[in-house]
Amino acid sequence: MDLNEKLKILSSSAKYDVSCSSSGSERLNIDGIGNTEKSGICHSWAADGRCISLLKVLYTNYCKFDCAYCINRKSNNIKRTTFSPEELVNLTLSFYKRNYIEGLFLSSGIIKSANYTMEKMFIVVKKLREKNFNGYIHLKAIPGADKELIRKAGFYADRMSVNIELPTQKSLAVLAPDKSKENILKPMKYIGSNALVSISERKKFKTAPSFVPAGQSTQMIIGASPDSDKTIINLSEKLYKNFNLKRVYYSAFIKVNTDSKLPQKNASLLREHRLYQADWLLRYYKFSANEILDENEPFLNEKLDPKSMWAIRNFNLFPIEVNKAPYEMLIRVPGIGINSALKIIKTRKYENINFEILKKIRVVLKRAKYFITCNGKFQGYIFKDPKNLKNVLSSKNKSIPLFLKNIPERTY
Ligand code: SF4
Repeated sequence: MDLNEKLKILSSSAKYDVSCSSSGSERLNIDGIGNTEKSGICHSWAADGRCISLLKVLYTNYCKFDCAYCINRKSNNIKRTTFSPEELVNLTLSFYKRNYIEGLFLSSGIIKSANYTMEKMFIVVKKLREKNFNGYIHLKAIPGADKELIRKAGFYADRMSVNIELPTQKSLAVLAPDKSKENILKPMKYIGSNALVSISERKKFKTAPSFVPAGQSTQMIIGASPDSDKTIINLSEKLYKNFNLKRVYYSAFIKVNTDSKLPQKNASLLREHRLYQADWLLRYYKFSANEILDENEPFLNEKLDPKSMWAIRNFNLFPIEVNKAPYEMLIRVPGIGINSALKIIKTRKYENINFEILKKIRVVLKRAKYFITCNGKFQGYIFKDPKNLKNVLSSKNKSIPLFLKNIPERTY
């Protein structure tokens, strides 16, 4: 099989992995230079926040596992192939030199054994670095591979990831019977602790080698199993806390196989979006998973974002006075983000904040007005039951009459 054909197959086989951020560029070459259509180019973010394009491929799409949700599972009758390490190194370098890509995202099906596969991937990244390739490398760690192999590979990669795929052992047992949660969490823990050691060693010795400097990420498939959003968000919280993860990616289930164990339909993209919003609350807004969802409400509301839902459930804490409220409460107001909260704190040091100033610092007043006062003034609407706010906040219709009312001050 020629290299072009291999590239077509192995880039297409990699497109369902979302643990880097996007994939499937289809920039055709009409009259210009270059053509990314045949290869999978995805976009990701480097440790310094730059958006970078990566060649996203599998080392091989042969796999001895039979995960129900995966196009590459062994029971599927699809065209299969494998790169040789040299082919993949040369391909990456030639794409890089032509400026098609800024790095490589390398994953793989599992051939022979986890160690055999990991060894091949290790050879690819090692050879690339030995050929002075300084582009970004995102490398999958194969669950079950030897610790030492993963450790050695981590010194050549910028980011590593182990896909957790499904949130519970029970779901793994049904849909991915060859995998176990323990086998997935072990390398994750190992990568997390090695990354921390590397950071502290580099503080002492500048020349100490970097181990996955852009951290590790994982992917969870949403809606392939009946697990609730609460289970998913609880797990994400643990992964961030215990394994020092940089990102958990959520991927709405896409039905690529016919299998009675799978749902009949693709999962909702809105559910995926709400999970990303909840994840954002965990990472930047200091919410705990238990505040976002509980036993009574185990699924995120598709009509309204999780921060607004929390504010409605905790309406007794509002309205807060923007001139006095602490930062931690300001960021919990729907319509006030981290940047606006920081600007409020800065501005109120030298002037009293009113609604005009809030507009200027880009507070979304049509949402925030129900939860704040400015110098005791309230511009929202008094609802008998705060649950009615759900309809107002989720509706595009802004016909609720404005109210100007003085509300007594809260003490903080
Ligand atoms: S291990 Fe499972 S998810 Fe990974 S390539 Fe093989 S069948 Fe697909």
